[in-house]
Amino acid sequence: MDEKKKKIVKTIKVNADLCNGCRACEVICSAFHAAPKYSSNNPARSRIVVNRHPLKDIYVPVYAGEYTAAECAGRDKYIIDGKEYEECAFCRASCPSRDDFKEPDSGLPLKCDMCEGEDEPLCVKWCLVDALTYEEREEDMAEEESPEEMETGLEALADEYGLDKIMETVARMSASKKG
Ligand code: SF4
Ligand code: SF4
Repeated sequence: MDEKKKKIVKTIKVNADLCNGCRACEVICSAFHAAPKYSSNNPARSRIVVNRHPLKDIYVPVYAGEYTAAECAGRDKYIIDGKEYEECAFCRASCPSRDDFKEPDSGLPLKCDMCEGEDEPLCVKWCLVDALTYEEREEDMAEEESPEEMETGLEALADEYGLDKIMETVARMSASKKG
């Protein structure tokens, strides 16, 4: 019987009760992804966004997830321990309904890459109150994504932003990773 291939699943646990809204995670994330690396920091370019409402004692760090071309038909709203969170407060999508998780100059979507190449995500290292903690585990690999599925995702991005912008961004990301 074929042994299933293994993959490493990386997880960042967010304990919102410990977050004090300092935004150090946003600063280091944007600096790490600047081109060249650490040449600037602009939290608007961060792949983690901290939803802050100090008067309500609400601090929700959220990681940039998948890009979606269409916004949801409905919205979600959570009330937890008597705190009412904004609509979509926990959503990770880069979507047309808001500015979160978009490169401010080009509008292209941002996605957390777990600080590829680093031994631990930098936002976790910089969070001095341990609101963010990192774990890795091994899991069986799922079926490989088909080239057709990948093309569908790329086509949606190209329709939205144009192929030239996508190519420019890929070149910039590649330069930043090498730098
Ligand atoms: S670094 Fe930690 S405490 Fe500061 S905003 Fe980010 S998650 Fe919250
Ligand atoms: S893991 Fe790295 S890329 Fe992801 S949000 Fe944290 S600092 Fe940014």
